[in-house]
Amino acid sequence: MPLLVVGSVALDSVQTPQASRDDVLGGSAVFFSYAASYFTSVKLVGVVGEDWPAEHTKLLTDRRIDAEGLQVVPGAKTFRWRGKYLPNMNDRETLEVHLNVFGDFDPVLPEEYRRSSFLFLANGSPRVQLKVMDQVVGARLTVADTMDLWIREDHDALMELLGRVDGLVLNDSEAKLLTNDENLVRAGHKVREMGPKFVVIKKGEHGAMFFSEHETYVMPAFPTEDVVDPTGAGDSFAGGMMGYLAEQGNFEPTTLKKALAYGVLVASFNVEDFSLDRMKKIEREDIELRMTQYQRMLSF
Ligand code: AMP
Repeated sequence: MPLLVVGSVALDSVQTPQASRDDVLGGSAVFFSYAASYFTSVKLVGVVGEDWPAEHTKLLTDRRIDAEGLQVVPGAKTFRWRGKYLPNMNDRETLEVHLNVFGDFDPVLPEEYRRSSFLFLANGSPRVQLKVMDQVVGARLTVADTMDLWIREDHDALMELLGRVDGLVLNDSEAKLLTNDENLVRAGHKVREMGPKFVVIKKGEHGAMFFSEHETYVMPAFPTEDVVDPTGAGDSFAGGMMGYLAEQGNFEPTTLKKALAYGVLVASFNVEDFSLDRMKKIEREDIELRMTQYQRMLSF
């Protein structure tokens, strides 16, 4: 079923204790759509400037990602983010953010995009996320991501969004900040009581937690030794999860659980290199192989 993502498209500069890269392909919508493309076709809506290399778009369109909704603004610059990871490779510091063309992002969706059944509102301003929701009248499942910036600076719009989405994915520290509760199980349910039918808390190297009215569970991370760059782990997790749901065409509890597992597995590949470099080298069967190992690991 058609999957639509709206979010940031970026040129990232990343420093880890071992290595660094400048101006590489990134952005929440990019990691999300690439991860989802192993499962289904994806429509990407975003904005870039004229400094955007055409080969980046080709990389996406070569992989069942429809980039018709990627607007190129002449005379403007692409969103840039610079971050540095601490030696634990889990915590990071944002060194620079240049919103550039993303600061005025006001997506107007093509008619066909408005009929998408599965919608992911990747990290961005909740006001923009709400505007997108208003346009996608055909959505059967709408899931959003958010971050500390919006929890602190646009709380009212975020609360309105939470009252309208079906699902929310956010980091552990963000769930604690939003609920003022250090206990993640309580925090997860408190976020759910703010509106979404289900909440997924991402815990980096510790996997993810799921909360709905009737279920609470954890999904451990797939153990990998090669953590080269965690950037985009959260977005590729969401892409794997939503991609599988869109492929299956439903969001029953059992499908959701398997979708979370696929999210964990796609993210485990993404962190094994910078930008999309690791994901570029894998196919669906590599994910399935890891799924077999993961299921074996979790059965006892
Ligand atoms: P993740 O590691 O999953 O949190 O995602 C990292 C990606 O988010 C990077 O590729 C950044 O370009 C992008 N990003 C960083 N800050 C923002 C922001 N304020 N709004 C939207 N995207 C962002």
